[in-house]
Amino acid sequence: RAPSTGQSGGLVGRLFGAKSGAVVRRELDDEMLEQLEELLISADMGVDTALRVTAAMAEGRLGKKLSVDEIKALMAREVTRIMEPVAKPMPLYAKTPQVVLVVGVNGSGKTTTIGKLALQFKAAGKSVVIAAGDTFRAAAVEQLQVWGARAGVPVLTAPEGSDPASLAFDAMTKAEAEGADLLLIDTAGRLQNRADLMEELAKIIRVIRKKDPSAPHNTLLVLDATTGQNALLQVETFRKMADVSGLVMTKLDGTAKGGVLVALADKFGLPIHAIGVGEQIDDLDAFDPADFAAALTG
Ligand code: GDP
Repeated sequence: RAPSTGQSGGLVGRLFGAKSGAVVRRELDDEMLEQLEELLISADMGVDTALRVTAAMAEGRLGKKLSVDEIKALMAREVTRIMEPVAKPMPLYAKTPQVVLVVGVNGSGKTTTIGKLALQFKAAGKSVVIAAGDTFRAAAVEQLQVWGARAGVPVLTAPEGSDPASLAFDAMTKAEAEGADLLLIDTAGRLQNRADLMEELAKIIRVIRKKDPSAPHNTLLVLDATTGQNALLQVETFRKMADVSGLVMTKLDGTAKGGVLVALADKFGLPIHAIGVGEQIDDLDAFDPADFAAALTG
């Protein structure tokens, strides 16, 4: 199942028409490079990354005649080259419980992703506990309980409005007592109130470290791929609040112009652990750079 990139056909197909594929040859000149650049920018790749891709495509080929298929392959090769280093599953450690802090703005797909991850880890033979750390949103806690039930994983909650850090501490105690392999901690994502959120996350991390100085072992930032270039700002914001160790990109099945993944990889080099490709519990895939590049450019 290849992630959709929101276009019918990929970028290059859209520019030249899908049918001209192997037959028509075009000169790789400045005008074409400019068109390719615009195309990449329109797919949310951002100017810097788009320029890097087209410059690499042009190297040693300016003035040469290429078939549309060759142009596609060249572009896919450059995109793959940027994406390969970031395609890494979430690392698992011997230390248990391994504490996974999940951060991201509300609506990015945090709750859904935690449910999907819980099921995947459980299927891999791990015992998993979830902590519903967004204690201020009753609806978020309920949703997480629904996902926990779907995954067959216990969800630890605290009364509405109570301190998320103390829930996280209790959850670590419980996870430890039960010999759980993984503890997934949901967090709030109220970016409207940045200072509060920063303090809340800092406190959760501080309290977790009292129990285990090496925790959290992973800090996953969940990003909605349909937010385009805004995802870059979210990375910058959350990196100020927590030591983000990896990304999960959601909604790549939708209207996402997947180019933002390339911009993220190029700019931050953070691992992409998984991609969300739907609203069902098994709609979480490993990130495959070649498949992604082919779908984006094809
Ligand atoms: P949270 O506020 O960050 O916890 O976000 P939720 O997990 O509640 O997700 C917000 C919305 O996005 C829900 O309607 C989800 O069904 C939807 N969603 C989450 N992940 C995906 C995905 O990979 N693909 C699609 N199409 N929808 C998703």
